[in-house]
Amino acid sequence: MNVLIAPRSTLHALQPIGQNTSSMESLTSYFCRLAHSHGIKARDLAAWILSHFGQPIPDDYKWYRRAFSGSSSETEQWSSWIATLTGVGGLDRITLTPWRHLVSRSSLTSRIDRWCPYCLQDDRAVHQSPYLRLSWDITSVTACSQHKVNLVSTCPHCERSNIRHRASTVIPGYCTACGGFLGEQSTRLAEPAEIWQTARIEQMLTCPPQIAVDQVTTLLETLVERMAHNRIATFSRKTGLSKSGVWHWFNKGGIPTLQAWLAISLHGGIGLDRLFAGDLENWVIPECSSQLSIPLNHSPRKGIRSRLLDWPAIRYRLRLILEAPEPISLAQVGQQLEIDHAQLYQNANLEVRAIISRHQQHRAGSRDDRMQRLQDQVTELLQERWADGYAGISAREVWPRLDQDLKAMRHSFRCIDATIAANDP
Ligand SMILES: [Zn+2]
Ligand SMILES: [Zn+2]
Repeated sequence: MNVLIAPRSTLHALQPIGQNTSSMESLTSYFCRLAHSHGIKARDLAAWILSHFGQPIPDDYKWYRRAFSGSSSETEQWSSWIATLTGVGGLDRITLTPWRHLVSRSSLTSRIDRWCPYCLQDDRAVHQSPYLRLSWDITSVTACSQHKVNLVSTCPHCERSNIRHRASTVIPGYCTACGGFLGEQSTRLAEPAEIWQTARIEQMLTCPPQIAVDQVTTLLETLVERMAHNRIATFSRKTGLSKSGVWHWFNKGGIPTLQAWLAISLHGGIGLDRLFAGDLENWVIPECSSQLSIPLNHSPRKGIRSRLLDWPAIRYRLRLILEAPEPISLAQVGQQLEIDHAQLYQNANLEVRAIISRHQQHRAGSRDDRMQRLQDQVTELLQERWADGYAGISAREVWPRLDQDLKAMRHSFRCIDATIAANDP
């Protein structure tokens, strides 16, 4: 562990991990590592800090009920106490307090503890103490942009939730209930929109805002002016935000939630980092409004030779295709990516084989399903006929009364005949 004892500092001068990067550590994680480096419980360290600063300690004191990573004034107080004791400045940067005047606290931080198991695995692989990322505490972050997977919230060993740091003794990366490593699990590939959203938020985290408290209203006014010619109704429609919410910012001193900022960022075609830096000078608003389902990687242009294609990105897109609800054929995949089959086979064999087998299974499944429906409809028509006193029905009479997709089935007449014959008493 990276421990330094700064001259005159009361506690170890641990450096926060990944500061100013998208995988920056949270104050919660820093605090747990600090307690661990002193060989004491996180609960005891929190109680000691409270008494050091002359604060009362309730009998049932639970340190983790304190908001260590949010944007409240309590978070700010804790970051400054810990900074004073460790001599490590700028600990507010590993909380959300720098954005307090810009982003509403409403639903900002998640009530459920989440993490990316692959990030924890990576920490261990480079012989670093596993640590908790600040972004994992933000409700709107549901994915890891680095590993392109969804965050998880239950222990892979004991299946309990909220076991990341809610205990007296905590070692980041290990379950507080069973002690198991939280990196030992697999998780779903995230949707492109979730990854986009996470990446935008991480971009925001890497640089503190330049917009001061007294400049927020001007920023909001500029946005409505540039995006909607000063019309709140048009601005709301364009961004999908409620008119009353926007009205509230201007008339009641409200500020946008992180989700609202993301909507502005998406429809305005501008990053949160630029918005919060007030960097609007060369901002060009996109003409048509964006969709959240934008793909992350542009499809490689036709005719580019194989060695120039970005295969890790293509394989990632193939895995997204595999996760999509509707299976598609290899021909469709080739068309979508503008890459020929031979190249796909050569460079992404596993994914291609999985795509083909999934599509074949789907087709077989839907053929079986249609055949079953055809047999049911023919039998029903036959029974109606018998009830009316007729001896039977011909395939030619049945065919026009079937569902459209059944009429289009290959050999539909033959199938109808076979069903009639099978029902023959
Ligand atoms: Zn990750
Ligand atoms: Zn567990």
